[in-house]
Amino acid sequence: MIDRLEAIQKEAHEAVQTAGDLKTLEDLRVKYLGKSGLVTEILKGLGQVPAETRPQVGKACNEMKNKITLQLDLKREELEGKGSVVTPREWDPTLPGRVTPLGKTHPLTAVQKEICDIFKGFGFDLAEGPDVESDYYNFLALNFPPDHPARDAQDTFYLGRDVLMRTHTSPIQIHVMEKFKPPHKFVAPGRVYRHEAIDATHHHLFHQVEGFLVDEGIHFGHLKGILDSFIKKFFGPRIKTRFRPSFFPFTEPSAEMDISCVFCEGKGCRICKQSGWVEMMGCGMIDPAVFKNCGIDSEKWTGFAFGMGVERVAMFKYDVDDIRLFYQNDLRFLKQF
Ligand SMILES: [Zn+2]
Repeated sequence: MIDRLEAIQKEAHEAVQTAGDLKTLEDLRVKYLGKSGLVTEILKGLGQVPAETRPQVGKACNEMKNKITLQLDLKREELEGKGSVVTPREWDPTLPGRVTPLGKTHPLTAVQKEICDIFKGFGFDLAEGPDVESDYYNFLALNFPPDHPARDAQDTFYLGRDVLMRTHTSPIQIHVMEKFKPPHKFVAPGRVYRHEAIDATHHHLFHQVEGFLVDEGIHFGHLKGILDSFIKKFFGPRIKTRFRPSFFPFTEPSAEMDISCVFCEGKGCRICKQSGWVEMMGCGMIDPAVFKNCGIDSEKWTGFAFGMGVERVAMFKYDVDDIRLFYQNDLRFLKQF
């Protein structure tokens, strides 16, 4: 019995392989698997097989049926696809094409670029500096003497006794002033690092845009004019600015610039804590001690510097209340921009 099954299977296999069209293939299906086909007849006659060999024969019969079915299916696919690279089932020209998802600029990158572009429009050039600095460039040359209390305000990641991750973009001022002769007119964007606990408004990594301008006869009025124009270009012409006295070792006098709240336009709201004003950036006239460190004659040249946090600007621009959202790479957040 088993021998006969094997013979039928062999014969079926050869017949299927040589079938040249779908009609022949259908005839073969009827011959073997049809209602009175060879395989069907054998399955019907299983009752007459002696009981002791019946399970074995039954199993062989089913296997043969499955094999022939598979061979018929494969051959049909082959014949249907004949003459074309893909079968019509695979390629339907009326279906819409697949859309390739496009990446977007991260909101922080976009805001940083927007800030720099506005200053480029004012005639500023772009400068860069390294993320890893020596104590000299990050502190000493910027008039932070050793043991100066202002160093404590910028909790620093030290990589060695004298090597650190820059805590602000201000070292770029020193690099530029050492390399080039005044006048200077630069904005310098970059990452900065602080050894700080992370919460809704603090992160150990954030971005700043530094700006500085050095020329003959520069005074505080120029600083106010440039920054006020920048804010009106960035947030709109209705936003007002004000300057409050402050302290930074590398500027004298120093100031904090506030802007009228972009959400309530000065009326008072949750964001501005009902004051109508929000703090935007630090700035000031470059301290003569900094000029001296760079070999620049402070009797002839004067200038101003400012530094703003890109995250802070972006949070006001987009009404984002948690700085951590910018770093979590959550597409639900990022897709909004
Ligand atoms: Zn407000």
